[in-house]
Amino acid sequence: MNASTSAVMDFLDEEIALLKNENRLVRLRVLTGRQAPVSVVDGKKVVNLTSNNYLDLTEHPKLMAAAKAAVDSHGVGTAAVRPIIGTQDIHLALEEKLARFKGTQACLVFQSGFTVNVACCQSLMSSDKDLLISDELNHASIIDGARLAKSPRKIYPHADMKALEAILQSPEARAARRKMIVTDGVFSMDGDVAPLPEIVALAEKYGAFVMVDDAHASGVMGPNGRGTPAHFGLSDRVQIQIGTLSKAVGSIGGYVAGERRLIDYLISVARPFTFSSSHPPSVVATCAAAVDVMLAEPERIQKLWDNAHHFKAGLKKLGFDTGASQTPITPVMVGDTKKAKEFSARLFDEGVFALAITFPIVARGRDRLRTIVSSGHTTKDLDFALEKFGKVGRELGLIG
Ligand SMILES: *Cc1c(COP(=O)(O)O)cnc(C)c1O
Repeated sequence: MNASTSAVMDFLDEEIALLKNENRLVRLRVLTGRQAPVSVVDGKKVVNLTSNNYLDLTEHPKLMAAAKAAVDSHGVGTAAVRPIIGTQDIHLALEEKLARFKGTQACLVFQSGFTVNVACCQSLMSSDKDLLISDELNHASIIDGARLAKSPRKIYPHADMKALEAILQSPEARAARRKMIVTDGVFSMDGDVAPLPEIVALAEKYGAFVMVDDAHASGVMGPNGRGTPAHFGLSDRVQIQIGTLSKAVGSIGGYVAGERRLIDYLISVARPFTFSSSHPPSVVATCAAAVDVMLAEPERIQKLWDNAHHFKAGLKKLGFDTGASQTPITPVMVGDTKKAKEFSARLFDEGVFALAITFPIVARGRDRLRTIVSSGHTTKDLDFALEKFGKVGRELGLIG
């Protein structure tokens, strides 16, 4: 490229400088080998408290065998979108298995949790007469989905049921053709659980329907990891259940489970489904095997929760503020961007990998480390991590 052809892109230098200035320039860390409870990251062996590998399924022998077998039987790709010729028998079998697992009539799999959220918001909120009502801490994919929807949107303060009811009583809501309340089941930065019984009661009182994004609850909450509606006994009162196949399930993908007519509608109108190609067979087979393992090995979920309780209690005992967490996602509050990054870097030196989550991903003053335990961590791994949290936390004056 000659100098003047490249010069028109010089704005990127300014943009990057700006990001650097705001501490927002991302550097990719590199994992060598498997995603595991103890991993090699940037060449260093660390206790890994960053991944969403809740059940340690990324290296489960049954999932790995299923992926390999599917390559032999079905090839490596579909070279098509689902509605053309990208639907193999195994795609339908996975959807039937997931629907049975969730206890719904039907299910539809998308390329990711991100795309399924975008698809549902955009497809179901298709007119300016509709109203999308969303928790302020919902995931970025719901925010982007709401931007692509044709409806106006109203945001309520996190888990604030009075505010939600006030929106439902507003003239705009009363005049709306349809109303959808969207919430994460488990919130990804704080690890707290949505007040689903209250949300469902309000939805029923005011004639709205509910979409729950269980990305961090799939494999974690409810019997065999069926999610937050199952946890609360509300499976048949939540109309749209979103799950991800990219976190506890150990592979990649997202799905929506619900009534047959919901799925039939989305098959015809959901844009990521219509215009982006389908999963390769290895992914489909991996996800199907994961559901079998979640049913056959509930001890993994028990171990995950035992580890979460042990780790959380250890952090509290050290004197850390772990926020409102009720799940294996445990924030360690720091309150300052620079200090949070320093905390994370120092822990890494000591052999513990915990991500700093800072403004603008969380509000100013809510900077933190986020830790996620896995069923694959041993008590020894977690006690090692706790010892380092104590050591570095004292060094930085975060605890006494
Ligand atoms: C991770 C996440 C997603 C996106 O899921 P992917 O399958 O990784 O695209 C959606 N919603 C929530 C709440 C998440 O945490």
